[in-house]
Amino acid sequence: MPIPRMSKIWMDGELVDWDDARIHVLTPSLHYGWAVFEGIRAYATDRGPAIFQHRAHIERLFTSAQVLTMEIPYSPDELMEATRELCRVNGQDSYYIRPLAYLGYGEMGLNPIPSQVRVMIAVWPWGAYLGDEGFTTGVRAKISSWQRMSPNVIPTGTKASGVYVNSSLAKVEAVRAGYDEAILLNAQGRVAEGTGENVFIVSDGVIVTPPTTEGVLRGVTREAVMDFARDADLPLVEAPLLRHDLYTADEAFFTGTAAEIVPIRAVDDRVIGPPGPITKQLRAIFTSVVRGREPKYDHMLDYVTQH
Ligand code: PMP
Repeated sequence: MPIPRMSKIWMDGELVDWDDARIHVLTPSLHYGWAVFEGIRAYATDRGPAIFQHRAHIERLFTSAQVLTMEIPYSPDELMEATRELCRVNGQDSYYIRPLAYLGYGEMGLNPIPSQVRVMIAVWPWGAYLGDEGFTTGVRAKISSWQRMSPNVIPTGTKASGVYVNSSLAKVEAVRAGYDEAILLNAQGRVAEGTGENVFIVSDGVIVTPPTTEGVLRGVTREAVMDFARDADLPLVEAPLLRHDLYTADEAFFTGTAAEIVPIRAVDDRVIGPPGPITKQLRAIFTSVVRGREPKYDHMLDYVTQH
């Protein structure tokens, strides 16, 4: 689906018209994938749009930049205020938010150090990433023939743009084979994650997700779901998983900003079943939190009009 056109995009401190947010074709990040980004969502609440876990996402952007030796020429607070302003000026109830720090036009070559770091933030409404019916019926996943890259190949704990060629290859393979999403195994053959989602299973009443040492992204939704589970006294462990564990799980689900919480109904055609009770419970908590209906978790929301 094409990106809906909004009014403004934030580029290096300025609000520019949507159609004027352009860069030169010799922008080095376009050639070598040396850029870092975030995916964030703002949800409609009774108090206007609210950005879910805003600071956690912006902190991860700076962590990714730190690992890639990029110095972002703005503070986290400046980028957060720029994002809130963008949400206000574009006048929608809810948004997907995409900040990107990249190497600007000027230098070329594999050494990123001489290049100037530039930042852009764009926002637009974006519906259910894995389809609306995914929430109710669950999605079908396929173990990818592409392996999740190891942390010494590329820093898998970052949202570096180049990392996503790996995710996209897996996504293309899965979609062409008729599945909704891919699950990648790591170099050790254990379960890593989806192409843009962390993976959880429920087995004998225990929620299990691979630890970040398995080479998975420290998902903001993953961490929020872990908080919700602990607060609801649902047993949860971070432990390595085999594909066998996916095939034999009582429940399984993906978490991610774009996807949100999506039940997995089958992996490689081994049926797990319709969304189970724990998946539904966590999804219900999440939905209520992002709509601003859980005072206990209100600290997870940044209301764009209250600054
Ligand atoms: N894993 C990967 C590879 C991702 O790209 C994402 C999306 N950022 C996630 C997991 C989920 O992370 P989050 O919940 O922070 O969106």
